[in-house]
Amino acid sequence: MTQASPDTAAVPDVADNLRQLTSRIAQAARSVDRDPGSITLVAVSKKHDQNRIEMALAAGHRVFGENRVQEAEGKFPALKRAYPDLTLHLVGPLQTNKAEDAVGLFDVIQSLDRERLASALRKASDKLGVRPPELFVQVNTGEETQKAGVAPDAADDFIARCRTTHGLPVTGVMAIPPIDEQPAPHFALLQKIAARNQLPNVSMGMSDDFETAVQLGATHVRLGTAVFGQRPG
Ligand SMILES: *Cc1c(COP(=O)(O)O)cnc(C)c1O
Repeated sequence: MTQASPDTAAVPDVADNLRQLTSRIAQAARSVDRDPGSITLVAVSKKHDQNRIEMALAAGHRVFGENRVQEAEGKFPALKRAYPDLTLHLVGPLQTNKAEDAVGLFDVIQSLDRERLASALRKASDKLGVRPPELFVQVNTGEETQKAGVAPDAADDFIARCRTTHGLPVTGVMAIPPIDEQPAPHFALLQKIAARNQLPNVSMGMSDDFETAVQLGATHVRLGTAVFGQRPG
């Protein structure tokens, strides 16, 4: 185990965090007449060690997110064997040369954002003889040059090509709004893209803005810090 620095030394009460967050998600859902049961809390455990993840598992939580294939491969295979109902989401960028590893490990890949990756995921699934994971198309709602994701006006075509040309099970969209802007317009745009493409899943909202995301239609909120505390390093 790495030695924690002073400000991360206090071990957070992960079970209590999950209880409080679940209640806040439910409250936000009810405020707009949504069913709280239609929202999934994806506990983003990147950079946290197995102990923190086990705390969430002990509290009954089963849905996790990681942003790097290699890190997830070091942490989750054993946990997935121990907890067969554990669901793992990839929320970070995926390189085509890691497609096979990703297909073997993740139940949901939220970062599908280019044709070459769609093709690599199809090939990897065929080679492994498995159904492709569930896929969310990442949309770069802020059209930021440094950020992954398809442009909003290219999303419909890309989603259609993933489904028809590559035969991939696209079931949702995901976005990470620009950090220096109000997230609400980005959440509203993502919800609209999901609706017009008949996609049931909308992944948006992080520790600081998940209630707004829920009010605007999120079905998956991705919470790291609020669940596990400050990330080490
Ligand atoms: C790290 C990460 C999160 C969680 O961020 P917090 O602010 O710690 O809740 C959510 N989504 C993605 C894509 C991430 O990489």
